[in-house]
Amino acid sequence: MKDVIVAKFGGSSLADSKQIAKVKDIIKSDSRRKYIIPSAPGKRDSKDHKVTDLLYMCYQLASHNLNFDEVYGIIEKRFQDICIELSLDIDINENLLEIKRKIQSGASKDYVASRGEYLNAIILSHYLGFEFVDAKDLIVFNNSGQFDSEATQTKVQSKLEKIGQAIIPGFYGAKENGEIITFSRGGSDITGAIIARGIDSELYENWTDVSGFLMADPKIVKDPKPIKAITYKELRELSYMGAPVLHEEAIFPVRQSGIPINIKNTNFPNEPGTMIVDDLSPISSTGTITGIAGKKDFTVITIEKTLMSLEKDFYRKLITVLETNNISIEHMPSSIDSVSLIISSTQLNSKLEKIIEEIRIYCKPDSIICHPNMALIAVVGRGMIRAKGVSAKVFAALANKGINIRMITQGSSELNIIIGIENADFNMAIAAIYEAFEN
Ligand code: ASP
Repeated sequence: MKDVIVAKFGGSSLADSKQIAKVKDIIKSDSRRKYIIPSAPGKRDSKDHKVTDLLYMCYQLASHNLNFDEVYGIIEKRFQDICIELSLDIDINENLLEIKRKIQSGASKDYVASRGEYLNAIILSHYLGFEFVDAKDLIVFNNSGQFDSEATQTKVQSKLEKIGQAIIPGFYGAKENGEIITFSRGGSDITGAIIARGIDSELYENWTDVSGFLMADPKIVKDPKPIKAITYKELRELSYMGAPVLHEEAIFPVRQSGIPINIKNTNFPNEPGTMIVDDLSPISSTGTITGIAGKKDFTVITIEKTLMSLEKDFYRKLITVLETNNISIEHMPSSIDSVSLIISSTQLNSKLEKIIEEIRIYCKPDSIICHPNMALIAVVGRGMIRAKGVSAKVFAALANKGINIRMITQGSSELNIIIGIENADFNMAIAAIYEAFEN
């Protein structure tokens, strides 16, 4: 649909009546914003609770036959306050009572968790004068509880075609028999992406409490620049390394149909935010980077064996040891007579000695050395494709700070450079790389 925007608003954008009033202004300021996906009310301040968390708590208490009145009372008050403060002429108490009764009579965990989005959508539909369309009638899960993309697509297309403006609660859908199923936490992002693809909107806006992605973690770099545009592939590289703003699975539905995502800030709606664009989008300048992210706590297991590359089954045996111990490998840089396995330390825990022993038995290496406390940093950017001197700049920045690089890999797409350093050098390294490119 041309001239149609799907807009998803996160929990902090709908945490109370003041925030909801901002959301109304945003929606009314652009008539293309026709399909709105709300989350449940989030935290109003750092000490507050998300409604979804409170709902999970009610479910837990009820499932142990414990009284959940007090926790449910907090939820009731949040919705009642919103309705009163927005002067809404709806009896939200009726809905609240019905949900309470269902929890008392053993409603499922997913049903209970989804009610924050459900109630928020009812409120918004009244406040905006948009039609309420229940996600249970649009988002389809199959009998084994898996999301059914094709059946959903058909329903979204046929139902929304007839409705000019709708509010659709995020986070959940239903099986054919009506049983409510939720996505994983933060799943309203996914609902928004599914609806955007379903109606082929021109844009998917994701409204939150930050003005998009920053080039580096602001806890490490002072006032990092915002990222104006990022491709899906770059985002994958960055979010796998650091804290994502967007639910990872939300990218796929819109990526498939080439719909751009705009991450925007409800509190500063005039800021451009970050545009997530097609992988083929041109870049204005080369030799630049898009962002830097990283993760700490990896362990490197380096295995040396002369002529290992001539042994036909060496790698198979090595990988089999990891597979049977249920370990996934982050990276595997190698040289002619050695290979290093880079594995997140939390995965290894108590298994490390067993794995080393098994590698000794099956692969018969000359030596195995283990090095814990390694951090990985990804320098990501489509601006480095075919540009010369980007890695030189990264390495010079680290060398100037006396940081020792323990590993380097560059993806064949030339989209990223990954550097392994000591955990202790993590912050200094990120700051030094940022400085080298941005100052
Ligand atoms: N309310 C749900 C959660 O807290 C889903 C969402 O906000 O996207 O996880």
